[in-house]
Amino acid sequence: MSEKVVTRFAPSPTGFLHIGGARTALFNWLYARHTGGTMLLRIEDTDRERSTEAATAAILDGLTWLGLTWEGEAVSQYQRAARHREVAEELVRLGKAYYCYATPAELEEMREKARAEGRPPRYDGRWRDRDPAEAPAGVAGAIRIKAPREGETVVHDLVQGEVRFPNKDLDDFIILRSDGNPTYMHAVVVDDHDMGVTHIIRGDDHLTNAARQTVIYNAMGWQVPKMAHIPLIHGADGAKLSKRHGALGVEAYRAMGYLPEALLNYLARLGWSHGDDEVMSIEEMIEWFDISDVNKGAARFDFAKLEALNGVH
Ligand code: GLU
Repeated sequence: MSEKVVTRFAPSPTGFLHIGGARTALFNWLYARHTGGTMLLRIEDTDRERSTEAATAAILDGLTWLGLTWEGEAVSQYQRAARHREVAEELVRLGKAYYCYATPAELEEMREKARAEGRPPRYDGRWRDRDPAEAPAGVAGAIRIKAPREGETVVHDLVQGEVRFPNKDLDDFIILRSDGNPTYMHAVVVDDHDMGVTHIIRGDDHLTNAARQTVIYNAMGWQVPKMAHIPLIHGADGAKLSKRHGALGVEAYRAMGYLPEALLNYLARLGWSHGDDEVMSIEEMIEWFDISDVNKGAARFDFAKLEALNGVH
């Protein structure tokens, strides 16, 4: 028997639940339902300056109104910081990561050099093979992972296909900052692993992160979950979706009297076409949904279509 599917929706609570986030949640939910699995919810609140309680409440509220239920309690990423630290330190013990004491001035020098040579800035690995005994006294270092330097990292994506990243483009990126806080890249991997996530379904703006995250999975010897990076939603003019295109937060549609079924029907069609244009019941969506049918190209937001769907209900 194949393992039970576990998906997750992992929003950053920096604003209301927007159309793009709601669609990501819907695809995670539909896939979990379709396969008899479960969807988990993780609030990615590590960025203390931008995360708010009000945004978390609005996201939970929006999901509940749409009927996109999750299993168990929502997990706070921030509260798992000690575990993120533990894994970063474990990677140092395993010889897969190391403490770096490069000063801000040294890092700036590296950036300047890259600028002058017309290439993207990269950390030059100067602490990678140094004896930890050389660490400057009283200075907290950041932990960097030893990224592979040769060959390529391949992401097998259920929507994008096989995506190859040359390892020379991945530098030894930071997983734990010198203040002891994890980076986003690291926290996501530790959480997805610990939560038993089998399928990561998220926007394709995270595709390049997938390569770096794969490096962390491999260093820990953990199984990489299956990934599906779904195309972002664009406005009718082809630009990344914003309020200017008439796209509002889920709560605004709710306040305007939209029905959850109408919004779900509209969201389901953003990037996934089942073939016909008829209004689907939730049960039909669950029955028909398949990640392999999600389109690779950007989805277009069309307010008139959404309005028309609302009229049908
Ligand atoms: N918190 C991220 C976001 O809101 C999502 C991270 C992920 O799905 O891996 O874009």
